[in-house]
Amino acid sequence: MSKKFKKALHFLGTGDAFSRHPNNAYFRPDEDTLVFIDFDARNFMRAKREIERKVPKRIYVLITHMHNDHVSGIPTLAEWLRYKCPDYSDSLCICAPEKILVYMAKELFEYRNLSDDMVTFVTTDAMCREEKSWLISAVPTVHVGEHFEGLCYGYLLSIGYLRVLYSGDTRSLDPFLPISCDEFYCDMSNFSGPDRPHLSWELDGEALVRKADDCDVYVMHMSREVREALREEIEGAGLFIAKV
Ligand SMILES: [Zn+2]
Repeated sequence: MSKKFKKALHFLGTGDAFSRHPNNAYFRPDEDTLVFIDFDARNFMRAKREIERKVPKRIYVLITHMHNDHVSGIPTLAEWLRYKCPDYSDSLCICAPEKILVYMAKELFEYRNLSDDMVTFVTTDAMCREEKSWLISAVPTVHVGEHFEGLCYGYLLSIGYLRVLYSGDTRSLDPFLPISCDEFYCDMSNFSGPDRPHLSWELDGEALVRKADDCDVYVMHMSREVREALREEIEGAGLFIAKV
């Protein structure tokens, strides 16, 4: 199947939590803005190169949830901007639903000893209300146990002329299937079993293939082993595997 649309997202890594480069994406919605979706410490050097390639006025990190492979690099990014890049030391903005920002504030200011002038927080609600916003809506989803309830999100984004849906880590497709979009980037860590934290190709592949009738579907967040085991089947079904 040929691609219907241009790939709107780029990736710092596409692996799972234990990969050399875990799954974090980025895009530039306009000349002045760079948005990272999640930020693992292992991807810092790649992110630094992208920032230096074309220095933005404003850098956002849009957080899907608080697992380490999604937020662990944020303190390093804040410190690097403050101490090594004085010209854009106030450019970092953390964007997430309010409940996640409360945790992030503790993480950065109490536990990591950053000062509150090193990052700005903006809620996803406020970001959605901004004129010509790149964020259309936050999409609550389910991922792991009870303590993470209400703390895991995907996002519907507006990038150029494309509506781009991003699942974050999820164990259900239900929140995403009804949303119309041009591109859907979907977690496929390939877990099975009753308490699985992620989707699986065996159980969710069919629904994803149906979704691909209406949009380009990219699967992401896979270990190398899972990627190689499923590549033929996924590509044969007309889906794409996200690449760096
Ligand atoms: Zn996770």
